[in-house]
Amino acid sequence: MHLSKLRLSGFKSFVDQTELLIEEGMTGVVGPNGCGKSNLVEALRWVMGETSAKQMRGGEMDDVIFGGTSGRPARNLAEVALTVNNEDRKAPAALNDSPELEVSRRIERNKGSAYRVNGREVRARDVQLLFADAGTGARSAGLVSQGRIGAIINAKPSERRILLEEAANIRGLYTRRREAELR
Ligand code: ATP
Ligand code: MG
Repeated sequence: MHLSKLRLSGFKSFVDQTELLIEEGMTGVVGPNGCGKSNLVEALRWVMGETSAKQMRGGEMDDVIFGGTSGRPARNLAEVALTVNNEDRKAPAALNDSPELEVSRRIERNKGSAYRVNGREVRARDVQLLFADAGTGARSAGLVSQGRIGAIINAKPSERRILLEEAANIRGLYTRRREAELR
């Protein structure tokens, strides 16, 4: 599975619609302090189904919406869309109907957020599973935030185990087992 495009609108400092093409190979993002590099990584984490505002460096989830600056008023809506190449057809069956999947998440102030895949509304769970199977995902070791390396060194064994399970690509199975047990 290959991520090919990230589109942001009203998300954190990305108030105007911004589109980034993600080419094969390595992509580097450079810029001065505070220009939004970490916000981009958080946009990836968020669209993959992050549920913790703290992981997004906020007090509540609405804090991901552009909060205004001295020159521009706050927004009431934020949207992030991530285009995923699914030519290998590895997506879970429920979403596996197209060679390209546009996964989007949209939040409205005080109203919570909703997910879509290729325009069709889906559950947060569907999106989380899609990326958990691909070995990425909001909580995966594939997304390393600032300060995380130190946190991993100091992690509890149970937290470190999650990293190993991701490396072994079995995290998605655990999520499904938990769902099955709850039924
Ligand atoms: P560094 O090099 O210091 O790590 P960075 O490029 O990673 O910097 P970010 O942390 O991504 O920078 O961006 C921080 C900027 O984003 C700050 O200027 C902050 O005010 C702005 N920002 C964060 N959330 C919002 C929001 N909800 N609305 C408007 N601006 C925001
Ligand atoms: Mg940063």
